[in-house]
Amino acid sequence: MNTAELLSWLTETDELRLEQLWAEADRVRRENVGEAVHLRGLIEISNYCVRRCAYCGLRVERGDLVRYRMTPDEVLGSARDALKFGYGTVVLQAGEDPGWRAGDLADVVRRIKSETALAVTLSLGERSPDEWRLWRAAGADRYLLRFETSNRALYDLIHPAGPDGKRSDRLAMLRELRALGYEIGSGVMIGIPGQTYADLARDLETFRELDLDMIGVGPFIPHPDTPLGKTAASAGPEQPPADELMTLKMVALTRLMCPRANIPSTTALATLNLAQGRELGLQRGANIVMPNVTPLKYRALYEIYPGKACIREDGAQCSFCLRGRLAAIGRPVGRGPGSARVVPNRAE
Ligand code: SAH
Repeated sequence: MNTAELLSWLTETDELRLEQLWAEADRVRRENVGEAVHLRGLIEISNYCVRRCAYCGLRVERGDLVRYRMTPDEVLGSARDALKFGYGTVVLQAGEDPGWRAGDLADVVRRIKSETALAVTLSLGERSPDEWRLWRAAGADRYLLRFETSNRALYDLIHPAGPDGKRSDRLAMLRELRALGYEIGSGVMIGIPGQTYADLARDLETFRELDLDMIGVGPFIPHPDTPLGKTAASAGPEQPPADELMTLKMVALTRLMCPRANIPSTTALATLNLAQGRELGLQRGANIVMPNVTPLKYRALYEIYPGKACIREDGAQCSFCLRGRLAAIGRPVGRGPGSARVVPNRAE
């Protein structure tokens, strides 16, 4: 699909034509990654963060936010829960938290890998290449790092330099992670104030250029205690809305651009439509869900944006709820780690 076609779908309003996009994305998903929905247990291991990202509720300047850091034993406990619920992967996510020392994290990864057959995905922000190498050697399989937007000027505006004063280049980091042997995942936010439709088309092309294994796209949800949460989106004709329809178009187009990628139906999408968001994502291109297995007492504190779905349920409730939702749309739960690098079993 070329840029003009992407732009035409991104701005399409005709419901009948959109039905064609949904059907095509669903068909390409089925033919390339099968019917199975793989479940990744999300463990939010710390909400400390040293960065000042203008969109994120964990940013260092939020002095009022109560901070927590899970202990290694707590992380192991959550990983065992994920296993008990039948998930094939755990995702360890956090703010950029040097308090999680690289060696301690490597120990946790080693313990999970020696005790279970779980795949381990890390989503810990912009750590150093030496740390990434250490974690990879400890057995970590995958790394998630969203580039957030392919518009460099907008990115610099919303993602200020880190404590080292250096501007980050997440595209270069993704290539580095790939060279270290990780499966790599990335993605963007949709409807960032100042973003344009052309930026979204470029995001989709960048997904393909990077040959990503995993791609997560979700709406930008304003957090009132962040700089970007206070900026009203310019209502100009070039500004894509941060809404459900726009997100579903991006999910569907991501599937068409990257047929074999693992694409989650994100929590941010579920947050916009609690009743149906996850299901619609899965029926319009997505094949992954990331149910939360973080201990209940920490969930509300991992407040990257307000009103996040599923923060009042515990892991068992999330697992039960999700299985019911998948059964209702006739999709089986995937078995095993569900790697994008392994050809899926079509029978599943
Ligand atoms: N510190 C890690 C993990 C961050 S949270 C990192 O920076 O990679 C994971 C993702 O949540 C971010 O990459 C971002 O795309 C998304 N996110 C953060 N704030 C958000 C907001 N206000 N609305 C929607 N998504 C948000």
